[in-house]
Amino acid sequence: MKSKKLSALVWLRDDFRLMDNPALSAALRAHGNSVLLYLSLPEEISTNSGKLSAAGLGIFMDILRERNIPFAVDKGDLDDLNHLVSEYGITHIYWNRRYAPELRTRDEQIKKYFREKGIQPESFPGNLLAEPWEYKTKERKFYRDFTPYYKNFISAYSPPETSNPEKFISGFSPEDFFIHPGSLEKYQKMKNQLPPGVFSLAGEESGKRALENFIRTSLADYPLQRDFPARKGTSGISAYLARGFLGIHYVWNKILAAETPENSEGVHAFLRQLVWRDFSWHVYYHFPKLDKNPYQKMYENFPWSKNQGHWKAWESGDTGYTFVDAGMRQLLSTGFIHNRPRMIAASFLTKHLRIAWTLGMETFARLLYDHDVAINAFSWQWVAGCGMDAAPYFRIFNPVTQAKKFDPQGEYASSFIPDNGDLFGGRGNIHEPIIRLDEEREKTLSIYYLLRKGEH
Ligand SMILES: Cc1cc2nc3c(=O)[nH]c(=O)nc-3n(C[C@H](O)[C@H](O)[C@H](O)COP(=O)(O)OP(=O)(O)OC[C@H]3O[C@@H](n4cnc5c(N)ncnc54)[C@H](O)[C@@H]3O)c2cc1C
Repeated sequence: MKSKKLSALVWLRDDFRLMDNPALSAALRAHGNSVLLYLSLPEEISTNSGKLSAAGLGIFMDILRERNIPFAVDKGDLDDLNHLVSEYGITHIYWNRRYAPELRTRDEQIKKYFREKGIQPESFPGNLLAEPWEYKTKERKFYRDFTPYYKNFISAYSPPETSNPEKFISGFSPEDFFIHPGSLEKYQKMKNQLPPGVFSLAGEESGKRALENFIRTSLADYPLQRDFPARKGTSGISAYLARGFLGIHYVWNKILAAETPENSEGVHAFLRQLVWRDFSWHVYYHFPKLDKNPYQKMYENFPWSKNQGHWKAWESGDTGYTFVDAGMRQLLSTGFIHNRPRMIAASFLTKHLRIAWTLGMETFARLLYDHDVAINAFSWQWVAGCGMDAAPYFRIFNPVTQAKKFDPQGEYASSFIPDNGDLFGGRGNIHEPIIRLDEEREKTLSIYYLLRKGEH
């Protein structure tokens, strides 16, 4: 049987959502129901974030079926694309941009290839508030510090309307619907490898519910509550954003539309965090080695420890320091860590155990559902003091005082450490701490001192 002819293909990679999906809306607007959605299987499903992407893909396929939107699922390589283009007579290809260096290069090559073949590829802004090259200093350089970036951004930024494909989607009828042969089997094969439970987290609709719930219950108190990990003080939307189940403009516009005189402070504190997310990508775009090399060159000579016992204790949440251990156990058991213990666990690894930030970053990359390559790398460099943003190298978080301040009743700790003896750290008779904080702090500071003098 001959395949139906279609004019456009929308290539979805990390953006399995209907709302706030610029490439999808543009294709539907221009080509009506003559479009095929092509969904890329995640390249990697051994990590938690890969598993979540795969689950989101499954949920998205169900939505497309319900809405009668034709689709294909495959690896997302040039051979597959070529095959679909010739099979369906495609003349236009649409996608949303990705900004990681190697993906950018690949997309550019694919664009050039199709252009030369007389097919029109068109790319649209990816899931950031602004393109990473959009904001520059007066000297036309990229920003290294967040505060001036933020000031410039907030004075100039005007968010686009959230693109909503609803009216175009309603044009599809059951006759339009088909699944490209082989797609379901490919997907089914991958789905069989996923642990049960990933599905409950995934998808656009659960992301929207999480955001609405946050706006209703916690937005007004966000500045006061966001640092206390035992409280429901933050939005919990990072995984939806990182996996592309929620669009950033959808989130920005929803938050802004919910502003009242009572919650205004919360609204602006929250939007500021969304700008931090963009800033990490701004930095990554201009310093593409962010996830490999320290921005400050002198840190290349830092004498990182190779102590396997310390490394294992940190990774398994067994250092004897409650806040660090609760954070790592939260990560191991749920694939998430609240931002405060995330900072403390990272600081403890790099500044008390003096183990390389790249190792911690890789563990987070494997386990976090919300893993985002730019934010993760930027944050690890920031905590380790080797990044470009002005985090003072001599600031070394004390995990015991941090626990006293941000988990004063030990509720967070005891939900992940059932045998927690001493509330705050150095779990006394139960677990001897693996190091002494004051001693290691001094050692680290003296290494910094020598590094800065160029003697290491
Ligand atoms: C060492 C380290 C590694 C990190 N790795 C990641 C990562 O891989 N992916 C990730 O999404 N976040 C990362 N973060 C930032 C932060 O911890 C999470 O975004 C936050 O805990 C997510 O919870 P939430 O959605 O409830 O946050 P909320 O407080 O509700 O914030 C709303 C959104 O703003 C963004 N955001 C919040 N804090 C930051 C921040 N410090 N930097 C950049 N964007 C931010 C996130 O998209 C978040 O969903 C990391 C932080 C540290 C210290």
